Amino acid sequence: MDFKTFKLNQDGLIPVVTQDYITNEVLMLAYMNEEAYQKTLETGKVHYYSRSRQSLWLKGETSGHFQWLKDIKIDCDLDTILVKVKQDGVACHTGSDTCFFTDIESNWKEKGQSVSNILTDVYDVVLDRKQNPKEGSYTNYLFEKGIDKILKKVGEESSEIIIGAKNEGSEEMVYEISDLLYHLTVLMVEKDVNWNDIMVELSKRR
Ligand code: AMP
Ligand code: ZN
Ligand code: ZN
Ligand code: ZN
Repeated sequence: MDFKTFKLNQDGLIPVVTQDYITNEVLMLAYMNEEAYQKTLETGKVHYYSRSRQSLWLKGETSGHFQWLKDIKIDCDLDTILVKVKQDGVACHTGSDTCFFTDIESNWKEKGQSVSNILTDVYDVVLDRKQNPKEGSYTNYLFEKGIDKILKKVGEESSEIIIGAKNEGSEEMVYEISDLLYHLTVLMVEKDVNWNDIMVELSKRR
C-alpha cells in the first residue's frame, strides 16, 4: 500500500502499534513517516521516525534490539499501523519487555484483572516463596517435600476434577480447577517452566 493513502497527523506521521507476533503482547507505540515506512518494508526491520531526535530511527540501532517484521496492517480508517514483530532482546529502552508496565490508578476501580494477569501473579507469588521461603507456607511445604509430593497433588486434584465433573452445576468445577491450576503452577516453578513458555507452545498449535 502507498503511504500516501494513509491519514497522517499534523506532523505527517502515522502512529504505529507494535505487537509481539507470538504472544500478541503490545510492546510499544511509536510513529512512522514515509521514509521509515519504506525502509521497514524494504529491509524487514522496523524503522520509526523519532520525534525527539527528529530523524529516521532503526529500532535497535544502538541497543541491538531489532524488530523483525512479521506482519503489517492498517486500521479501518487508515490512521494507525499495526506491526507484528519478532523482538530481539526487549522493546523498551528501560529494559522492560514492553513499554506498558506502569499501572494508572483510577477511581473507576473494579479491577478488571485479565486471566493472564491473575495466572502470572499466582506464578510470581509461588516463585517468590521458592526463593524466599516463608514460615508456615503451604507452597513451601510442597517445595520441601519435593517433586514426588507435587506430582501426587497434581494427580489428586486431577482426579477430583474428574469425580466432581459427574455432579450437577459448575461451582465445584471452579473450585477444583483452581486447585489444579495452583498445583500445576507449583510444578511449573519446580520444573522451571513459565506461562510464556506455555503460551508460545499453544500459539504454535493454532
Ligand atoms: P534502540 O533503537 O533500541 O537502539 O534505542 C535507541 C534509543 O531510542 C534509546 O536510547 C531510546 O532513547 C529510544 N528508544 C528505544 N526504544 C524505545 C521505546 N520502546 N520507546 C521510546 N523510546 C525508545
Ligand atoms: Zn474499525
Ligand atoms: Zn483508526
Ligand atoms: Zn519504553
